[in-house]
Amino acid sequence: MNSIVCKFGGSSLADASAFQTVADILKDKNRRFVVVSAPGKRYKEDKKITDLLIDCFSLSSKNENYEKEFGLIVDRFVGLVKDLNINLDLKPYLDEINREIKLHTSYDYVLSRGEFLNAKIASCYLGFKFLDAKDIIFFDKDGKVDLSLSKKMFNKIIDEDVRYVIPGFYGIDTTGNIKTFSRGGSDLTGAIIAVLSDSSVYENFTDVDGVYDVDPNKCKKAKLLRRLSFSEMRKMSSLGAGVLHPDCSDFLESNNIVLNIRNTFNLLDPGTMVSNEPKPYARSITGKKGYLLINFEGDLIAQSRGKIEDLKNFIESIPCKIQKIIEGIDSISFVVNLGDNLEDKIDKINCNIGVKVSTQKVALVTIFDSCFNEYKIWQDKVFDALSKINFEILFITKSTSDISVIIGIKEEDFDLSIEQLYLNLFDK
Ligand code: ASP
Repeated sequence: MNSIVCKFGGSSLADASAFQTVADILKDKNRRFVVVSAPGKRYKEDKKITDLLIDCFSLSSKNENYEKEFGLIVDRFVGLVKDLNINLDLKPYLDEINREIKLHTSYDYVLSRGEFLNAKIASCYLGFKFLDAKDIIFFDKDGKVDLSLSKKMFNKIIDEDVRYVIPGFYGIDTTGNIKTFSRGGSDLTGAIIAVLSDSSVYENFTDVDGVYDVDPNKCKKAKLLRRLSFSEMRKMSSLGAGVLHPDCSDFLESNNIVLNIRNTFNLLDPGTMVSNEPKPYARSITGKKGYLLINFEGDLIAQSRGKIEDLKNFIESIPCKIQKIIEGIDSISFVVNLGDNLEDKIDKINCNIGVKVSTQKVALVTIFDSCFNEYKIWQDKVFDALSKINFEILFITKSTSDISVIIGIKEEDFDLSIEQLYLNLFDK
């Protein structure tokens, strides 16, 4: 059997007892490559190490004191080493991280240190070799992972029959600096290691039993999905299913690697299998907050080609990703991912365009159902469910052939909308 790549999320490595559970899982020798996240939350109010590193960096950038936040990071890692009873001197690493925070030159470097330290600890505890992601994951000049260079370096470094621990979330750019993926990026590291090591299975260990047809924290009736295709997984994760990084599926699908999402703390459950095998689409509801609806108003604005072009150019000039365009007659709206100070930037540009602009934060809820490609069915089902709901719909879109319906709602209605839609559509 060829080797298996295992990735453990932050909650799977949040404290010493979680580490012990991980060590038990790794008694299976086929589990050869272990990718780790930074320690996550131990309890609801706890802070993730990555969030604390971000806090330190931003305080230091404003020349403010970050001692308290850094102290929490130190306590967490030093506590882990003590509880695991391992012989590892963290001081040189912590001093170096502190120095980098003080200099506040490389955000990505600082951000990546949670994974780095956790991998150091895991490698010492498990007796696996530490393999730094900066030596095997290379980005090209466009910021994409250079798989062929990464593969070359990986093959050079890897010894047969050795088991490795690799920090997730980062690699190295063309200038030799640490570069992180977007948040949750250790999932991607795991997928990339699976590709580099020619593994056929990638086990992604988390703190839930797998992928559900709706967020189980929002709806108690959520059902576990046992099998998914990469196409479904890709759509669900890019539209809100937080269980997996949205870019993961591409790496795995094109390399025929099977993904198994499963629970570190409930090994009796086989979890969700995601593969290339075609299968009937699963029904599910997913959603995400953090979008901005930018609405432009003007007489017959949506019928003026020139105006639409101007607005598109304007939207493209601001740092955001367009998710949707909704056209009316006297209005045209863009739904974009909410970035840093986006509302301020839009207010400033507002006056140059000469049309009325308003903005509103929105959440998108997406309903997937394979029978939605038949108009009678989706209309009956969705409009029947919508007639029973108790929140305002800002817009609803569905393309002719699609099996998904996207609904825009106010952020404050998010949790309620997911539950109500699920109960009215799927819990029958
Ligand atoms: N620690 C990083 C984050 O919190 C990356 C990861 O966990 O995958 O986003």
